Amino acid sequence: MIPPIASNFVAGEDPETALEHVRELNERGVKGILNLLGEHYHDRPPADEDADAYVALVDAIDESGVDACVSVKPSQIGLDVGGEVFEENLARIVDRASNRGVFVWVDMEDHTTTDVTLDAYERLARETDGMVGVCTQANLKRTGEDLKRLAPLPGKVRLVKGAYDEPREIAYKKKSEVDRVYKEYLELMFREFEGGVAVGSHDPAMIDYARDLHTEYGTDFEVQMLMGVRESAQFELADEYEVWQYIPYGSKWFSYFYRRIRERKENALFALRAVVGN
Ligand code: FAD
Repeated sequence: MIPPIASNFVAGEDPETALEHVRELNERGVKGILNLLGEHYHDRPPADEDADAYVALVDAIDESGVDACVSVKPSQIGLDVGGEVFEENLARIVDRASNRGVFVWVDMEDHTTTDVTLDAYERLARETDGMVGVCTQANLKRTGEDLKRLAPLPGKVRLVKGAYDEPREIAYKKKSEVDRVYKEYLELMFREFEGGVAVGSHDPAMIDYARDLHTEYGTDFEVQMLMGVRESAQFELADEYEVWQYIPYGSKWFSYFYRRIRERKENALFALRAVVGN
């Protein structure tokens, strides 16, 4: 069982509990992006197993009637085994999901995976006429060029600051630099994209900037934030804009929870208060 302090960031161990969380969110105007926790499988069987679990999940989303989509990590469905395993599993998930009317996001991992991830996205975006989305990372210097490539495609693009520690030759390292290029890329997206812009950030400055760009260019956008982070802001924003909460679930919850705790002092204090019962 997931301890109460972790359940702030992880919806549960099984899809039923995660769907129940989505149902509650939907009642408050927020939609759900479900992510089965798992990454970096070096053998094919666990990668195929998680792909099977996603196929079952899109069926369950459709049957339950909740407003939800899924988000998949390439290394969870076989990228470390081989590019063709990843592509095969992703195509299988997207095929079932698009038949069920369920949207599929592809998360972005470290820079060695960017090309194969964008290539798979491009192919599937065209084949499904936009039933997929991909994540791009502002900390990578290449992202401006990638966004120009993605602009004319159907589908959606999520811009995040980037969670991986990348080499300085190819990445911006300082927070101030990443914040500056995040705004630059956001402006490019609102200007060049016809829609499908997803602002994957908790940063109030980035959300405010997206609002300004929406006023200037009229481009539709959505806001995406993680479960357990600035949730009151998520509910407030949902009165005005489309808001999606990224919801991890599954038995591999511990390392995800540990990352969230290490990331932020306030999360660690929150966890500590829960432990000492204050
Ligand atoms: P920051 O500058 O880090 O934070 C801004 C403010 O938000 C902070 O001052 C704080 O008030 C609040 N905040 C941010 N994070 C936390 C937290 N954990 N706990 C408490 N408060 C917090 N990265 C990838 O590399 N690949 C992906 O596929 C990917 N997918 C993502 C999907 C979603 C929906 C989101 C929201 C993020 C995703 N990320 C991904 C992570 C992203 O790259 C950043 O590491 C993360 O979002 C923190 O950056 P930020 O934009 O929120 O801004």
